Amino acid sequence: MLEGQTCLVTGASRGIGRGVAEELGTHGANVVVNYRSSEDLAHEVCDHIEDDCDGEAVPAQADVADYDEVQTMVEGVREEFGGVDVLVNNAGITVDKKFESMTREDWDRVVDVNLGGVFNCTKACFEDLCDAEDGRLINISSVVGQQGNYGQANYATTKSGLFGFTRTIALEMASSGSTANCVAPGFVATDMLETVPERVQEKILDRIPLNRFATVDDVAGIVRFVASEDAGYMTGQILAVNGGMEW
Ligand code: NAP
Repeated sequence: MLEGQTCLVTGASRGIGRGVAEELGTHGANVVVNYRSSEDLAHEVCDHIEDDCDGEAVPAQADVADYDEVQTMVEGVREEFGGVDVLVNNAGITVDKKFESMTREDWDRVVDVNLGGVFNCTKACFEDLCDAEDGRLINISSVVGQQGNYGQANYATTKSGLFGFTRTIALEMASSGSTANCVAPGFVATDMLETVPERVQEKILDRIPLNRFATVDDVAGIVRFVASEDAGYMTGQILAVNGGMEW
């Protein structure tokens, strides 16, 4: 159970982030539901957590790529709950193109959100996570960061980058007793997967030994475990949740 823990989940209005926020709320945590533009959906997630779970939930608008917005959001969390115990860096985007057509702008957009956002949020929460002594930093990477993927040079680079970041922060946090880990999902049925053409989805499915895409719940349960006391001696690790895909 996560009673008394305050968990900030970025990109929690939809998809994996929403599933994680609801899972943590179901287990008693106070949840901060960050979103960029889907205000109504973020409120819906909070209502669901408050109605069905023990913890409190509040929506928090901020573009994770914006350093000042993230600082303001985290100051708000501190005023409301006293600090962040669990940070789930989930917000992420894709801008898929073959490398020969990829522009510098396509590259920068993805790097700014997927890595810049992780820097901004971790920076804003770092002291709180260390002060918590059993704090948890959980970065949502991807099997694409492990394998690479056609048309995703920008995205794959950001998702691989999280491995080095997580490992390093794990070392720098270790003396406080807090941990940093990566969860690397395979292909999950969310809006992000909807952007992949159907014929490509079929090819991906052929590569998944469990023969199905992951559900949001497949990932959320693992994140809840990593956030829990049971995972206290695990740090700097990559947990692959990919239906048996090799890498
Ligand atoms: P999704 O359905 O597209 O949802 C993305 C979420 O991130 C939304 O809540 C969105 O908020 C938020 N977001 C996007 N840019 C943001 C920003 N700049 N600041 C704050 N929030 C932002 O994505 P998903 O499939 O759930 O993916 C979530 C994470 O899992 C990503 O990091 C992704 O790389 C990773 N992942 C996904 C898959 C997959 O197959 N789906 C597989 C492996 C890893 P708004 O609604 O307000 O725009």
